[in-house]
Amino acid sequence: KKRVFSGVQPTGKLHIGNYVGAISQWAENQDAYDNIFCVVDLHAITIPEAIEPKAFRAKCLEVAALYIACGIDPAKSTIFMQSHVPEHSELSWLLNCVTPLGWLYRMTQFKAKSGGSESVGTGLLDYPVLMAADILLYDTHFVPVGDDQKQHIEFTRDLAQRINTMFNAGLVIPEAQIRASGARVMGLDDPESKMSKSTGEQKKGHSIGILDEPNVIKKAIMSATTDCENEARFDHCGPGVKNLLTLYEVMSKQPREQIEAEFHGQGYGKLKKALVELTVEHLRPVRERYADLMNNQDHLHDVLKTGADRARAIAGTTVTRVRDGMGFVRP
Ligand code: ATP
Ligand code: MG
Repeated sequence: KKRVFSGVQPTGKLHIGNYVGAISQWAENQDAYDNIFCVVDLHAITIPEAIEPKAFRAKCLEVAALYIACGIDPAKSTIFMQSHVPEHSELSWLLNCVTPLGWLYRMTQFKAKSGGSESVGTGLLDYPVLMAADILLYDTHFVPVGDDQKQHIEFTRDLAQRINTMFNAGLVIPEAQIRASGARVMGLDDPESKMSKSTGEQKKGHSIGILDEPNVIKKAIMSATTDCENEARFDHCGPGVKNLLTLYEVMSKQPREQIEAEFHGQGYGKLKKALVELTVEHLRPVRERYADLMNNQDHLHDVLKTGADRARAIAGTTVTRVRDGMGFVRP
């Protein structure tokens, strides 16, 4: 089987964008691949100002539990905490040394998150290198992610090619797996910008949390920013309505023509109400499974332990291959 690797940062409230763009895809395609899913806690500290140790620890476990609650089956997929496998940090250093600085300054995520400030941590600039290490450690073929991570996957491919050429490292060149619809869910309050965990922590009504209570979901959707006169067609409306239509499309699995026929010319109220209902029902079982998992955290820790053991065994052989290629003395 081909191998899949992906992860989510424990940086805030997980939202419907993370679910639609990433996690739900992982769950749906589990049987087709050898799956490795990681809680990327080392990435989360690239904005250290946002880290409050006690809350961070809880958040990391929450993300692991959410993976399972969203349908990732530990019997079919390896689930682990990135920091439990030190090879991520080690490969990241080896890769750092062959990464041209210019490649990093070009990354749009860095530009957006640093806001041009010189006082951000070096880790924020280095984020794509750690992400490349995550992916390359497991000889990954496919990386199912949202549209915003496309550039980082391109970067990973270029970096793998570079180190293969320089040091005959034999790394597998991965491919991004991005869904046709729903790969970039926009903020409900501002449909010009991507729905994000970090923004969701600061602004009410920005995101739909995977674990949000029905009344919170309702409030967020009903007050979502909408635009243009009454058009509810995918190609003839502003980004706000398109965003709602897309969410409806992904969760209902109905064809676009059917959705347009149902909502076109009806005003946005009908679309919003239907989306509230659909979302609440869609997320209800996730919320229930999540509560069960958090009631038995021993099980969660067992899953993470088993996952880290398996991940380490694979990651160790890759690091050895790269070290050998570069000419390090074996211990
Ligand atoms: P942060 O604001 O901390 O960067 P985030 O919401 O961007 O949080 P990440 O942990 O960076 O979440 O990304 C996890 C996965 O979710 C990635 O595959 C990413 O592409 C995907 N993703 C993030 N936001 C969206 C979105 N709005 N629509 C679709 N996919 C998304
Ligand atoms: Mg992000």
